[in-house]
Amino acid sequence: MTSATAQSRSVRVRDHEVPTALFIDGRWVETDAVFPVRDPATGAVLGEVADGTPQHALQALDAAVAAQAEWRAVAPRRRADLFARADSILRSRAESIAAVMTAESGKPLAEARAEFSLSMDFFQWYTEQIAHLHGTFAEGSRGGYRVVSTHQPVGPALLITPWNFPLLMIARKAGAALAAGCTVVVKTAQETPLTCALFVQALVDAGFPDGVVNLVHTTRSAPLSAAVMADDRLRKVSFTGSTEVGARLLSQAAPGIVNAAMELGGDGPLIVLDDADLELAAEQAVICKFRNAGQACVAANRIIVHESVADAFTERFVALTRALKVGNGFDETTDIGPIISARQRDAVSGLVKEFGQIDAELLTGGHEIPGDGYFFEPTVFAVKDRDNPICHRELFAPIAALYRVASAREAIEYANSTRYGLAAYVFTSDISRALTVAEQLDFGMVGINRGIMADPAAPFGGVKASGLGREGGHHGIYEFLEPKYLAITVDDRKALS
Ligand code: NAD
Repeated sequence: MTSATAQSRSVRVRDHEVPTALFIDGRWVETDAVFPVRDPATGAVLGEVADGTPQHALQALDAAVAAQAEWRAVAPRRRADLFARADSILRSRAESIAAVMTAESGKPLAEARAEFSLSMDFFQWYTEQIAHLHGTFAEGSRGGYRVVSTHQPVGPALLITPWNFPLLMIARKAGAALAAGCTVVVKTAQETPLTCALFVQALVDAGFPDGVVNLVHTTRSAPLSAAVMADDRLRKVSFTGSTEVGARLLSQAAPGIVNAAMELGGDGPLIVLDDADLELAAEQAVICKFRNAGQACVAANRIIVHESVADAFTERFVALTRALKVGNGFDETTDIGPIISARQRDAVSGLVKEFGQIDAELLTGGHEIPGDGYFFEPTVFAVKDRDNPICHRELFAPIAALYRVASAREAIEYANSTRYGLAAYVFTSDISRALTVAEQLDFGMVGINRGIMADPAAPFGGVKASGLGREGGHHGIYEFLEPKYLAITVDDRKALS
């Protein structure tokens, strides 16, 4: 049974009210079933959230479909005005959103604030693009007609987000989709629905019309998504998450030829060449590896160091790792928060055991931290045996694996020996080497002498098993637009007669 209300039920998280219902067709919708959201730093329940069913998701799709024609027809300037209003509401709630993000994801408050700021950069980027979409005009190649190309919104979109960047992922997807004129059904990650609810609430408060933005939480992602994917009114799925789930969604997209964008897993190499600034490389590698407790798609999964500088780099990297403070994200001195769940923390322990069974030396860390939360020591292994499957797998954990190579060529070969192709990094003081190595890396993004690179001006995304499509840059909005060609007969002679 469900009931729709204008006023949402909510939970209070660190003094901030967060709606817990689903949001469908301009109304907050309560459900009988609810599920708990936990603080991974304490294991405590923060609140209970409505547990949506496939029927709720289909109602959300009904609303998105019904609102599509009207939303598409809203003039670009008016759409941009709504974005601007949402932007200022979101900014006025920055601290609440960051606090809720830290509470449910565990990331340190400073990281949550940085994520808020980057999310707003993306949102603003799409706002600016709304009124700047261009078409082309050309003479037909055989004369007698003109070629006009324009764009139209692809149609109602399902947006599925992961828990590790609860605001950035939705701001980046919904920003592009709504700017392009698509209506959306947002499916949040079960671990972090509250941040997403605050984002949607800000859009509602800004006056986005009923049905344009719909929100569903669920503990049953597979049947819920499958029901929406099987409905041929859905025209787009934009997913961020694991490669395995992405592949499943792609197969569900096939029968209806649903347009699909996939931001999937990574196995990022971070290469340190013999002429690198080692201080910079070690400092950036620590950020790149341990940000979000290693639970990032673009994390440095394999740190590949030229043997002539490996000892010096390793010493500095391990020293910086040992200095990281693990703790509750609300403690401002914390560098690394908890792992997202007990199950995931156990998976990290399992990875440590697997490294222990190959030719790898444990340099620091390696243990769970006892207590109520799901904490794990930042861990470093020096790995000699590169053939083991664990040396080609996404770790998604606070475990750094260091590998030695004898040349840039060997570094590239090992870097590319993975099914993934999301983000790679290279550290060198020679720009020519940087470009040559970057060009040979089979990855969608390469950071040169830097370990962080997400930016709204850049096309974020991967190749191979890391995904299809891009978010951000000039490309992001076009993921939600389709080219449309008009052939217009022009009778030049008659026109001049
Ligand atoms: P996940 O694939 O388990 O879940 C992602 C989303 O899919 C969640 O909303 C989840 O509820 C939903 N989901 C799970 N099973 C589903 C199913 N059978 N059908 C439909 N939806 C389903 O991933 P996760 O654990 O939340 O996130 C970690 C993964 O996401 C890592 O592999 C990471 O690299 C990847 N990721 C990629 C990017 C990127 O931009 N490329 C960004 C962040 C995370």
